Amino acid sequence: MPFVLSSRQATLWQATAPAAPALAPLDGDVQADTLVVGGGIAGVTAALHLAEAGVDVLLLEAGELGSGATGQSGGLIAPNFVRHTPASIVRDLGRSAGERMTRLVGDSAQLCFDLIARHGIECDARQDGFYTPVHNQRLAATHAQAAVEWAERGFDVSFIGKSETHEILGTRAYCGALRFGRGGSLNPLAYVRGLARAAVEAGARLHVASPVEALERVDDGWRARTPHGRVRARRVVLAANGGNARLHPAMRHAALPLHVVEFATEPLPRELRTRVLPQGGAFTDKAAYIFTGRYDGDGRLISAFPNSFLIRGQQASLNEARRRLARHFEGLESVRIEALWEGVAWINGSFLPEIYNLGGGAFVVQACNGRGISINTAIGIALAGALASDDFETLPISPRRPKPIRFHRAAAQLPKAMMTLAYLSD
Ligand SMILES: Cc1cc2nc3c(=O)[nH]c(=O)nc-3n(C[C@H](O)[C@H](O)[C@H](O)COP(=O)(O)OP(=O)(O)OC[C@H]3O[C@@H](n4cnc5c(N)ncnc54)[C@H](O)[C@@H]3O)c2cc1C
Repeated sequence: MPFVLSSRQATLWQATAPAAPALAPLDGDVQADTLVVGGGIAGVTAALHLAEAGVDVLLLEAGELGSGATGQSGGLIAPNFVRHTPASIVRDLGRSAGERMTRLVGDSAQLCFDLIARHGIECDARQDGFYTPVHNQRLAATHAQAAVEWAERGFDVSFIGKSETHEILGTRAYCGALRFGRGGSLNPLAYVRGLARAAVEAGARLHVASPVEALERVDDGWRARTPHGRVRARRVVLAANGGNARLHPAMRHAALPLHVVEFATEPLPRELRTRVLPQGGAFTDKAAYIFTGRYDGDGRLISAFPNSFLIRGQQASLNEARRRLARHFEGLESVRIEALWEGVAWINGSFLPEIYNLGGGAFVVQACNGRGISINTAIGIALAGALASDDFETLPISPRRPKPIRFHRAAAQLPKAMMTLAYLSD
């Protein structure tokens, strides 16, 4: 039997990450210059960099640090857009905003690995490349073009053909792949805990088990209420991902849930590892029914599939995990699944990393989109810099007003419905 299985809280990372810094719930009435709500990668990175810039910052996390998407994630460091390319983003946002966004995304992986080195964070960080393999010639052509767009801007990105993709990934399922040389993977819970430790050392006040139950505008600032305390702050950063919807009316319809099942095999024997992802690296393919892969430091293969209406319960998820492995890699038919858990990635309307400006000194990070470990690190740093200097012109993402997703209630079922179709066609 797996040592942790299918409880939302029981991830591989909880079993393998170093302990979190000891933090207490908020107790009593306090003041801060800037309040950050949410202790995932966006909130903790922002708190760390605000504190380093000398800002009096306080962070409130409802559960434990990383208990949202950050700690549920696969930990792939993927410096790529979900849907766009450098050229299409320029078409959508204009040259200046498009190029700034491309730089934010493209530089985000290196930023992460540099941050890890600077703070000496033990998080099984491996900078061995990130790949987006494709399974048909049409996608191969668009991805080859995307590689040109990245490379001509100076990024270490290339397109590799069928045989090199087979050599690197160890599967014949693909006809080519976009390769991001600066990408890789890490233990996301260890990463966010390490950043939190650095934030506390820099002077940030962090509280766990402190859900913000109400947030209101008062005088020239904001007041947040938790079960045992209240915070008065001049400015607020909402970095609560799916929780943002309950913190401000403008955020109520700004994101949709995508349910994803992550799983990890037992440590694979050396012989299998010479055939499956033999050179390391991490990948997320471009199939509608997404498949991903990477190793951890003990040689477990970690992968994922989007959840659908047709896979219900632990045993069905385990069966699907095994089916997917066997479908992509020879030799994995009878491998033991050691850990399996479900997470929710919140998708916004643009599929782009977004910072929203709610006015009155309230900013929101809504940038999960299933791809936020490195990108939300970069956003946290950039937003902290803008808040510390009061200069929002230099932000790589121009803050906009949130745009409600139309027919939100029905639309919230869409990601799972689409993944059900993708599962059926797989
Ligand atoms: C299953 C899964 C796999 C993924 N795999 C990858 C991957 O391999 N690579 C990648 O780059 N991205 C991946 N992602 C996406 C990535 O995890 C997210 O983009 C990123 O972690 C989002 O960080 P965040 O800080 O914005 O949000 P979160 O990590 O969700 O943090 C928000 C925090 O706010 C807290 N909160 C909510 N409401 C309140 C409240 N009222 N008061 C106080 N706190 C509150 C939550 O408890 C949570 O800890 C994955 C996501 C999922 C779900």
